[in-house]
Amino acid sequence: MSSTLFEKSHKGRDGINIPKQSVPDAPNLDENLLRSEKAELPELSEFDVVRHFTRLSNKNFSIDANFYPLGSCTMKYNPKIQERVGALAGFANLHPHHITNNQIHLVQGALSTLKTLENNLCEITGMDAFTLTPQAGAHGEMLGVMMIGAYHKKKGNNKRYVIVPDSSHGTNPATAAMVDYDVITVKSGPNGDMDLEAFKEAMSDEVAAVMMTVPNTLGLFNPQIKEICDIAHSYDALMYYDGANMNAILGVLRPGDIGFDVIHLNLHKTFATPHGGGGPGAGPVGVVKKLQEFLPDLQVSFNKKDGYFFNKPHENTIGKISPFFGNYLVLIRALVYMQTLGREGMINVSQKAVLNANYILAKLKDHIKAPFDSLCMHECVFSAEDLAKEHGVRAMDIAKYLLDFGLHAPTVYFPLIVKESIMIEPTETENIDTIDYFCQKMIDAIELAKSNPEAFKEFPKTLPISRPDETKAARSLNIRWQ
Ligand SMILES: *Cc1c(COP(=O)(O)O)cnc(C)c1O
Repeated sequence: MSSTLFEKSHKGRDGINIPKQSVPDAPNLDENLLRSEKAELPELSEFDVVRHFTRLSNKNFSIDANFYPLGSCTMKYNPKIQERVGALAGFANLHPHHITNNQIHLVQGALSTLKTLENNLCEITGMDAFTLTPQAGAHGEMLGVMMIGAYHKKKGNNKRYVIVPDSSHGTNPATAAMVDYDVITVKSGPNGDMDLEAFKEAMSDEVAAVMMTVPNTLGLFNPQIKEICDIAHSYDALMYYDGANMNAILGVLRPGDIGFDVIHLNLHKTFATPHGGGGPGAGPVGVVKKLQEFLPDLQVSFNKKDGYFFNKPHENTIGKISPFFGNYLVLIRALVYMQTLGREGMINVSQKAVLNANYILAKLKDHIKAPFDSLCMHECVFSAEDLAKEHGVRAMDIAKYLLDFGLHAPTVYFPLIVKESIMIEPTETENIDTIDYFCQKMIDAIELAKSNPEAFKEFPKTLPISRPDETKAARSLNIRWQ
């Protein structure tokens, strides 16, 4: 049943019937342009093809079908109304050259959506201006750090370092390094927050920025964050807020109010674009006034006389970082999401996200080690270290067990600073029945680990592939059909 289209092929079987032509054939093509033999394409009926792909699509694991508690990823349910609106012809069929060809009067509605989204994002984050063009979280980070570099260069500051706590997302140090800064990693204290004394020691006049993932990848909110901002500013270092997981604080706290200077958001995590599989994203970047002049070009403005138009770029702009406007239809989805939820709805999002994660933390912490004795934000982290030591059952074994019960595995072995970590993000969109079911399966796995650890060698039992050789799969991957 799982054979490929090539294996299903049957000589002479047709997919479609094309009516006999009533016009003469085109003159023969040049001999040397013709194939000497037929392309080796599978020959199948339309029905064969439809069944084949429908069957494959049913094998997909997706958020529309099952619970997906992958930490640091926000795999949540996104209401379908965003998809409907994003697919409206007036949005989906826009051509970016309407703008470059001086036909801006034809796209006033589109520009107004961009401006409204910019304004909403400023209001949500407490920033003074936004650019919508970056196409992913990491892309936004790169832009943010490039603007920080431009700021210091203009002031004649001699800066070499970017400070990154060891609990930040991996893209943070990678970004700083790509933009040619040396990275100083500051370790976490026993409570999971960046060690304040170690931070003070690392701080100097040569530090350009401090990049913080908030909440950090342990799902914790650092209560000393205001103090960290003040210390950094006293050295004229800028504060970067990685806001990819904004659903933890949405409507409750504004990073601009605490003292952050730059923020990126992942619209494809918090604001209703489904993600995974490398689909289109958007990582808008917000800045405070002192960085506004460095924003990429294409800032939308409005006045009564001209309507919506693009500002002439500031002379200090760092230039273009995306063709046209980034992923416009992702931006539209985010705007629709915000408008349908409103202020109260967005507060509700973060309250539910945090409540759900804490519910899991409370339900599981008597069964498996929770390394930090505090409330969490939108995700919680456990450690299978003891299970591994005492019973030889590792985080990966628990993850494989869950697959048999219609559950996606949580994130395992990340964050790196927790041994045998299992990181769970239920998100705001799951109800208590689903979360209880998941917790029960986790508890079942833990009990089984204690009573019969050998059993784990067999999980998953119900999937097409059970336990591949992970090293071989990574090092010598062969996905060619023969
Ligand atoms: C997902 C994520 C990123 C990276 O976003 P991409 O869109 O995948 O580039 C950065 N930081 C944090 C905290 C994230 O969760």
